Amino acid sequence: PPAVVAAEVSKVYGAGDAAVHALRGVSVGFARGAFTAIMGPSGSGKSTLMHCLAGLDTVSGGRITLGDAEITGMNDRQLTMLRRERVGFVFQAFNLLPTLTAEQNILLPMDLAGRKPDRQWFDQVVDVVGLRDRLSHRPNELSGGQQQRVACARALVARPEVIFADEPTGNLDSRAGAEVLEFLRSSVREMGQTIVMVTHDPVAASYADRVVFLRDGEIVSEIHGPTPETVL
Ligand code: ADP
Ligand code: ADP
Repeated sequence: PPAVVAAEVSKVYGAGDAAVHALRGVSVGFARGAFTAIMGPSGSGKSTLMHCLAGLDTVSGGRITLGDAEITGMNDRQLTMLRRERVGFVFQAFNLLPTLTAEQNILLPMDLAGRKPDRQWFDQVVDVVGLRDRLSHRPNELSGGQQQRVACARALVARPEVIFADEPTGNLDSRAGAEVLEFLRSSVREMGQTIVMVTHDPVAASYADRVVFLRDGEIVSEIHGPTPETVL
């Protein structure tokens, strides 16, 4: 079964004349071990869909399942547990703690959850992300691309069932963006990670195995297979 499934998901912000229909019956599944990009113009519902899929926001209608769990209907405490234990996040802002080293930042969510990292897995993540010689550096001693790779490693180290990335290259120049995208793709190819990435950048989407297009809160098309940015 897919890692994440949305079935007829709708989302309305506000009510009455002011109501905004951000999602209008979205049905889509995200395969395990695949790198999927969600593209669409500004305001098409990309962030809303990702937030609903990840349990950061509630739906107005429809159902979302993550693995064997239906997350629509979970209470806040259950959603917090789900995000902490089964989901990883990468945002446009790196959200690293400035006083901690790269290694401490990577391990922080596991430390907070009282979980012990698997040392072999940690080493593999650090090697794939290419940060072996940067582990004792603080964020201000790292480039933007390196900081975002630390954030990616932090998402990956807990072995989440799925990683949600919201415009992960939005604050990066093209070279640093490529570093981060190469890493995300390697984590899928070499570690079997499942990634759902929201982006409006065709270059970023060209790294994905599949691209789903949103417009006005609906899925309007999709492309399978690595796709050159010129087509996106
Ligand atoms: P995208 O990520 O594709 O830019 P969003 O999911 O952010 O799109 O937004 C989809 C629609 O929902 C837009 O019309 C946006 O203005 C609206 N919207 C998003 N968040 C809120 C909110 N918290 N309150 C009201 N409207 C919102
Ligand atoms: P922006 O698009 O304004 O740069 P981000 O991409 O950083 O914002 O964050 C997008 C959304 O995700 C925000 O609504 C924020 O509430 C949420 N968010 C950001 N960082 C985290 C986090 N570490 N954990 C949970 N939610 C977060």
